[in-house]
Amino acid sequence: DAVTPAGGPVPRRLVVLAGPTAVGKGTVAAAVRAAHPEIWISVSATTRAPRPGEVDGVHYHFVTPEEFDRLVDEGQMLEWAVVHGTNRYGTPRQPVVDHLNAGVPALLEIDLQGARQVREAMPDALFVFLKPPSWDELVSRLVGRGTEDEAERTRRLATAEVELAAEDEFDVTVVNAEVRQACAELVALIENPPDIVRGT
Ligand code: 5GP
Repeated sequence: DAVTPAGGPVPRRLVVLAGPTAVGKGTVAAAVRAAHPEIWISVSATTRAPRPGEVDGVHYHFVTPEEFDRLVDEGQMLEWAVVHGTNRYGTPRQPVVDHLNAGVPALLEIDLQGARQVREAMPDALFVFLKPPSWDELVSRLVGRGTEDEAERTRRLATAEVELAAEDEFDVTVVNAEVRQACAELVALIENPPDIVRGT
């Protein structure tokens, strides 16, 4: 397949990081980006508006709904999903394939629905579930970052409760009690991927 270069398969150089909303996936990914330039992190496309400080092409590719439709129609998305009932987010396929073919380890930071699609498309990837140390900590992180209004927070917490139950679909769990620790664990998994034997 497209992810198999001439030298044979490149198993598990693709790591998918998912977990409930507000667990800190973005923060952990940012820590990896800052400290580990040898790891390539996919830049998602999204229809949501940029937040202050977010740079187009760095944090996301900010696209119109029409552009997003076009990317999906042309088969350019490895996966995509509507997240939190409003905006669409997706992983452009070609950059992932190109980096894997070049032997560069790749990290996707996506939601659970997206992780399930990648599981179908690229079952050799390593699926890492990022988990909060506790429910109370998850709630206080969501409130603390202050990027959502109360209605949106309520909606996201309902989603998070369901998403926490998905842990057993994943190969490995990392607890995000402390960003540096979680980042170090994730990097170790990317650089030295464990052998996982999955049931069918
Ligand atoms: P935010 O709007 O806070 O940046 O992200 C909201 C959610 O979208 C997060 O849970 C994040 O993991 C998810 N997300 C970001 N990029 C992608 C993507 O490319 N695909 C999918 N399925 N989810 C994504």
